Amino acid sequence: PDTVRLLSSSQVITSVLNVVKELMENSLDAGATSLDIKLENYGLDRIEVRDNGHGIKAEDTPVMAVTHYTSKIFSHEDLEQLETYGFRGEALGSICAVAEVAVITKTQDDDISTQYTLNFTGQIVSQKPSHLGQGTTVSVLKLFKNLPVRRQYYSTTKKCKEELKKVQDLLVAYAIIKPELRLTLIHNKVVVWQKAKVADHRSALIATLGASTVANLLPCHHRQEQPEIFLDGFFPKPGADYSSTSSSNPDKTFIFVNNRPVHHKDIMKLLRQHYTAQYPDDSARNRYPTVMLKITVPASSVDVNLTPDKTQVLLHDKEAVLTAVEVFLVSLYGYRSN
Ligand code: ADP
Ligand code: MG
Repeated sequence: PDTVRLLSSSQVITSVLNVVKELMENSLDAGATSLDIKLENYGLDRIEVRDNGHGIKAEDTPVMAVTHYTSKIFSHEDLEQLETYGFRGEALGSICAVAEVAVITKTQDDDISTQYTLNFTGQIVSQKPSHLGQGTTVSVLKLFKNLPVRRQYYSTTKKCKEELKKVQDLLVAYAIIKPELRLTLIHNKVVVWQKAKVADHRSALIATLGASTVANLLPCHHRQEQPEIFLDGFFPKPGADYSSTSSSNPDKTFIFVNNRPVHHKDIMKLLRQHYTAQYPDDSARNRYPTVMLKITVPASSVDVNLTPDKTQVLLHDKEAVLTAVEVFLVSLYGYRSN
C-alpha cells in the first residue's frame, strides 16, 4: 500500500511549481488576502506558504491530509457549481507521501496556533502550540526525498532556475486575477518578487507588468447569452505599436477560465493568429501578445478535472467560446485574422 500511495501521489505532485500551486489555491479557498511563499534551494529543501485565511478547525485537522477528504464539496451536484480551486482532497495527502509536511494553523476562535507534524500517510504524528496569527502555514521539506530520480531531475541549475521562473509566472497570474491579494515570493531569504494589494485588474497589471506596457492596453468587455459567455480583459490598443505588447514567450498572455489561470491551446492559437497577422514581416511570426483574457462561463459547462494540476480545462462549448473570442477581437480591431 505504501508503494501504491507513493506512485499515485507522485502523479498528483510532480514539481515545486505544482506544490506551490496547490498550497496557494488552498489558501485562496480559505479566503486569504495575504500570501507569503518562501522557498529554500529552489523549493527542493523547503516550500512554505503562509496565509491569513480562516484556518483549519481543530476537529478537522486529523482528516485534512486524508486522501479524498475535502471540506469543499459535499455532493456530486456541488461539482456543477464549483467556486473553489480545490475539490478533490488530494493535494495535502499526496504531498505528505513525497515530502515532510508540517501545518501551523489558527482559526478566529482559537486562542493560539497549533503546529501539526504529518507522516507519510497524512496522519498527525505530533502537535504543539505555536505562535502565529490567524491563518495557515504549510511547510513542505525535502520534496521528492523518496523519489531520488525525480529529485535529481529537478536539481540541475537549469531546471531549478526554470522552476523558479514558472513559480513567479504563476504568482503573476494570480496577482492579476486577484487584485486584492498581497503576495511575496522569497527565495533563500531574498525577496524575489512582491505585489501589494491593489483595487482592480488594471492596477494589478501595472503592478506586475509595468505602467508603460499597460498604457498600450485597453479594457474590453463582451457579454453573450445562450450560451452564456462573458469575456473581460485587457488587449493591445487598436493601431498601437504591437511590438511593445508582444514577446517571444507566452508568459504575458494570461488566459483565465472562471478565475483559474489556464493553458488553452486553441484560445492561445486564436490570439496569436490574430496578432501575428498584424505583422507583415516574418521576424514577428512567433509573437505572443500581452493580453489578459478572463472567460467566465457557467461552472457546469467547464471540466477542470482533465489533469491533476487543473491548468487545462475542457470547455463544454469550446466552439462557442472560440467564436465569442473571435467576434470580440473583430469588434475591437475591425477585421478578421484569416
Ligand atoms: P482540497 O483543496 O481539494 O479540498 P487539499 O488536500 O488541498 O484538498 O486540502 C484538504 C483540506 O484541508 C481542504 O479541504 C481544507 O479543508 C483544508 N486546508 C488545506 N489547506 C488549507 C488552508 N491553507 N487554509 C484552510 N484550510 C486548508
Ligand atoms: Mg487543495
